[in-house]
Amino acid sequence: MQKQERYKGIIEYFIKNQPNPETELKYKNVYELLVSVILSAQCTDKRVNIITPELFKKFPDIDSLSKASVEEVYNIIKSCTYPNNKSKNLISMAKILKEDYNSHVPSDIKELQKLPGVGRKTANVIASVYFNKDVMPVDTHVFRVAKRIGLTTDAKTPLETELQLTENFPKNLLNSAHHWLLLHGRYVCKARNPNCIECEIKKFCKFYEENKKINYSD
Ligand code: SF4
Repeated sequence: MQKQERYKGIIEYFIKNQPNPETELKYKNVYELLVSVILSAQCTDKRVNIITPELFKKFPDIDSLSKASVEEVYNIIKSCTYPNNKSKNLISMAKILKEDYNSHVPSDIKELQKLPGVGRKTANVIASVYFNKDVMPVDTHVFRVAKRIGLTTDAKTPLETELQLTENFPKNLLNSAHHWLLLHGRYVCKARNPNCIECEIKKFCKFYEENKKINYSD
């Protein structure tokens, strides 16, 4: 099967079955989304959603977070990964937003990446989810699923994956495609045990095509 057929097949499937995919992070404004996405680095959205209600109650905005101590933030977020680094980054990020951005979160990806704890993926998530920009954030799920399905060719880094996906998905579908691939990776095409038998896009998947004679009966 040609790569373009795979794209066409999964786009048709997801448009029909997941027409409005959304982030599973719970947030009320761009400040809360930014904090949540920073916390979600190498941590589950589920864990982040458990932590953030208390964090946002104590630090409801950029100003209050900029005045927090590392210890105060650490004590609230300590059950997520890298709590010490994340506490320091969150406070520094709030200070920079307050001093340099008039307490506003910028929509520009390059500006977002100047903030502590914000890499290209996080900046793309904010730009995509909150500012509706046509960009493709690539996390570990998107990287893996795109490769298995055969949507990318020899992509060795998240940036290579991002560029290939951006080139091949219609621009107006990039936001949705990010969520489609991420959620598919989280619940079906898992890292260690992809559930190929029950996967509803298997007929478009390169990994399945190459392995079905060995591993699967259908
Ligand atoms: S068939 Fe298997 S490898 Fe392919 S997308 Fe589905 S779960 Fe992932």
